[in-house]
Amino acid sequence: MNKRGHVLNAALLAVGIGYVLEPAGDVPTFVRIAEISVPIVLGALFPDVDTAFGKHRKTLHNLAVLGLFLAYPLVFDNLRYVWVGILTHYVLDLLGSRRGIALFYPFEREYSLPFGVPVRSKWADAVTLAVTVVEVVAFAVVHYYVVPLDTTQRILAVLGL
Ligand SMILES: [Zn+2]
Repeated sequence: MNKRGHVLNAALLAVGIGYVLEPAGDVPTFVRIAEISVPIVLGALFPDVDTAFGKHRKTLHNLAVLGLFLAYPLVFDNLRYVWVGILTHYVLDLLGSRRGIALFYPFEREYSLPFGVPVRSKWADAVTLAVTVVEVVAFAVVHYYVVPLDTTQRILAVLGL
C-alpha cells in the first residue's frame, strides 16, 4: 500500500475509533478524535521508514516493532494509540499487495495473505474503505467485549502513575 492509502485508512480509522470510545457524537467525541488521529496517522506512516533505514517490509514491519509501540504507553506514558497505526499499516500491506511482510524479523520469511488488491487497482480505495470499516468493528468488539482500548490509562491510574 502507498502513503495515500495508509493516511486515508488511518484518518478514517481514527474517526471510527473516536466514536467507539465516545459514542455520543458530541464535543467529547470530537476531542477524542483530535487526540487519537495524529498518533494513529503517524503510526501508520512509521513502518515505511524502513524504505530508507533497514530492509523494506522487514525491519519495521514486524511483531517486535508492534510490541514496542504497545509497551511505550505502559513504560513511558506516551505514544498512546500509535500502535493502532502500526497495526493497521501491517493489515493494509497484507491486503494491499501480493508481497508479504516479515512478521518475525530478523527471520526474513515474509508472510502474506492468499488474496490482496494491488495498489494500482481501481478497487484499491474501495478495499481500503472496506478494510477500515472491518477494523472499526473489530476494535469495537475488542473494546466492549475483551479489553477497553483505553486500558493503559486505567493501569497507570491503578499503579498511581
Ligand atoms: Zn509498509
